Amino acid sequence: MISKNNNAKKVLLISLDGLSANEFKYLSTNFGFLEEHSNCDISKLSSNTLNSAHGTWGEILSGSPWWESGCVGYAFPRHSLNDLEIGTESSYQFHSMLTQVPTLVVNVPLLEPQNRLWLSDGTNASSRVNPNKLAIQEPFKSYQARPFTSPSYYFGKTKEGTRLCLEIEKQRLTCAESLALQDNWRLGIVRLTAFDQLAHLLGPHYLRDTSLAVHSAIESFISKAGESLKRIIQSAEPTTIAVVSAYSHVECKKRVNLNQVMTQLGLCKLLDKATVQKEQALRYQSATALSNRIDTSPLISTTNIFVEESCIAASPVQGAVYINKKDRFKNGLIDINEQVSKTNEIASQLKSALCEAGINNINIESPPSKTLAPDLMIYAEGVDFHNLYDAPAVDAFSHPKSCHSTTGFVCMKNNNSTDLSYTSLHSLLEGRLN
Ligand SMILES: [Zn+2]
Repeated sequence: MISKNNNAKKVLLISLDGLSANEFKYLSTNFGFLEEHSNCDISKLSSNTLNSAHGTWGEILSGSPWWESGCVGYAFPRHSLNDLEIGTESSYQFHSMLTQVPTLVVNVPLLEPQNRLWLSDGTNASSRVNPNKLAIQEPFKSYQARPFTSPSYYFGKTKEGTRLCLEIEKQRLTCAESLALQDNWRLGIVRLTAFDQLAHLLGPHYLRDTSLAVHSAIESFISKAGESLKRIIQSAEPTTIAVVSAYSHVECKKRVNLNQVMTQLGLCKLLDKATVQKEQALRYQSATALSNRIDTSPLISTTNIFVEESCIAASPVQGAVYINKKDRFKNGLIDINEQVSKTNEIASQLKSALCEAGINNINIESPPSKTLAPDLMIYAEGVDFHNLYDAPAVDAFSHPKSCHSTTGFVCMKNNNSTDLSYTSLHSLLEGRLN
């Protein structure tokens, strides 16, 4: 049982998502970035197939594997393949340590404001800052969760994109420092996303690339961010500190549109282009009006692109395949007694098709039990699985510089294991709260 005493020891999790263990050591050694904490035990943190922020944080926060909660990405199909719902801790019914102690939450996927000290990660449509009254004054008044809808908008103008990333992260840290000074929290999670965004913009090796025009701006950000995190740590003492990254970046070699692959295999059917464009324009308008924020892409990406009556399976969420089951979805096609054989058949068809396209390191997981979970999770290092409507099935020429890898790290004192799953990190942190 977790102690509810506010004076009990705190646990502070500093998340540097997108950074690898080696990059963290490089920053500590060369820039003194959190150097006191780089001497702790570093464990590899990984999964077979999860590489999305929502999926990995889903496991860390709930302590349940993705196939129990169903959380593998920003959303899940609710009543049909086209009916995407943005997932939060309440939709996945997390029973977590987060509901048992007062928390400080900065820029963490899935977590809602509730009665927390909270800064949005950009997926909550109704709130940016909690308590709400903070938003009327600085630094919270200027708080923005994300610099851009998609880093791809800035691929041709990386200097401007980088400046935006760094500015927004500095403002976030200023807000986080102010919140951390409040005494009424026991578990704090402060998540930086600049390292992830910069890797998407500049490629996976940007930290050591001294030829970049933005190199000195990044160096100056690193030292300022390090100072700011030190102050947050000081204001939280006495504390267990964990530095964590829920995924890292690798060079992207190919882009795969799973829905196009499945269309070519006769498993999926997509709506015609004019209908999809009209739908998306309407959704974009209403999402922007509703949320008044810059990041609306998760709300609109794959909603309403499938001809459900002709889909045996589809991938409405990146890397995840859902069989169109009669007992799960309206317009479902697959009977309950065919589901296991169909899942196996589709897994093997996808594996062959992707191998034929030169992707040999493919990893396909099928969950042992099902709730909101997809039927298959697909991952291959260096491959960006996406759901853009009309992009080619496999593209080895036009793709982003960088994509997520399933391997992150956690660095904390007195942790003897070298390999941890996201769910075991949850237990470890829960133990430190006792
Ligand atoms: Zn990312």
